[in-house]
Amino acid sequence: MSGGMKVTGLAKSYGTAKVLDGLDLTAPAGQLTALIGRSGSGKTTLLRLIAGFDRPDAGTVMIADRPMADVPPERRRIGYVPQEGSLFPHLTVAGNVTFGLPRRARRDRHVVADMLELVALDHRYARRYPHQLSGGEQQRVALARALATRPDLVLLDEPFSALDAELRADTRRAVTAALAATAATTVLVTHDQAEALSLAAQVAVLRDGVIVQAGSPEAVYRRPADDVVAAFVGELTMIPAQLTGDTAETPIGPIALPHPAYGDGAVLVRPEQVMITDPENGFARAKAVTIDFRGHDGLVELLVDAERGHLTLTARTAGQLLPAPGQRVGLHLTGTALASTPGKPRRK
Ligand code: ADP
Repeated sequence: MSGGMKVTGLAKSYGTAKVLDGLDLTAPAGQLTALIGRSGSGKTTLLRLIAGFDRPDAGTVMIADRPMADVPPERRRIGYVPQEGSLFPHLTVAGNVTFGLPRRARRDRHVVADMLELVALDHRYARRYPHQLSGGEQQRVALARALATRPDLVLLDEPFSALDAELRADTRRAVTAALAATAATTVLVTHDQAEALSLAAQVAVLRDGVIVQAGSPEAVYRRPADDVVAAFVGELTMIPAQLTGDTAETPIGPIALPHPAYGDGAVLVRPEQVMITDPENGFARAKAVTIDFRGHDGLVELLVDAERGHLTLTARTAGQLLPAPGQRVGLHLTGTALASTPGKPRRK
């Protein structure tokens, strides 16, 4: 496929600290790639190398099939939207949106109206100044300005993190709709895993200087590369298991393993994979111990009836189906699980 963004073998150290260590990543053309990773893992460093604000120690950046080694930031055809406060305070919304355009296009009033419509802002906003806008509106204008130049690549560096929850949801919707409408190739940096899973076509996980997994949100959530990725993108509950190749036998029933594993060990499952049924049904029986009610759903701490030892695990279930504390229930498992074998080194 042509276009898109591709970095190969990217390396960057600050002093003796190696931040990126031969990183490869492809952002498919016309799609949104979300880059996630712990704080300090190098997300901003990667974005700055792609934008050309810093130079890599090694490796290449290609944008829309053009090598970027000798291209300065302003010639990379990139639209960059930082966390907040990137608008020019002395320019109106119209002035901000058309800032990067040739003089003739700047005078075309349709350009401003079209760009504001794209980000779902009324055309009357054109005459306002940044301080007369909410934080979410400012971010929409910043995106309109980035998209106005028809960039080959849009880089969003935590663009919603400064917004409160309600504004965040609306702004997110407007921004993703505008990106989809223009089929912009986008890399979004976020520390919010739920945001990455919900917005992105591709999620890329940065750890130890490399991308440890890049795939669809479903793949990263359901078939994580390892237990560290698994824990990073959602809650987990651990259940002891006999690993018999493509199946794990657990005290609450069998579950399929996508990567074969053998021996005494455990499986890691999402709480929503632990299905609560009537006590007569289900593979095993348990008692609900505590309930963490969250409105739309809830987490149930369960004590499983076991012949020996104690087994507690966590289930997630829809709010209206939550058992009461002390209630007896049946349990079984669905989906696939990641095997966790003892002695495997854990990387943070
Ligand atoms: P993230 O965006 O994932 O939080 P960063 O890319 O900001 O991570 O930082 C990665 C690491 O590089 C951190 O340990 C940070 O302290 C270090 N770092 C980033 N920029 C510089 C710099 N200009 N000089 C020295 N160290 C830096």
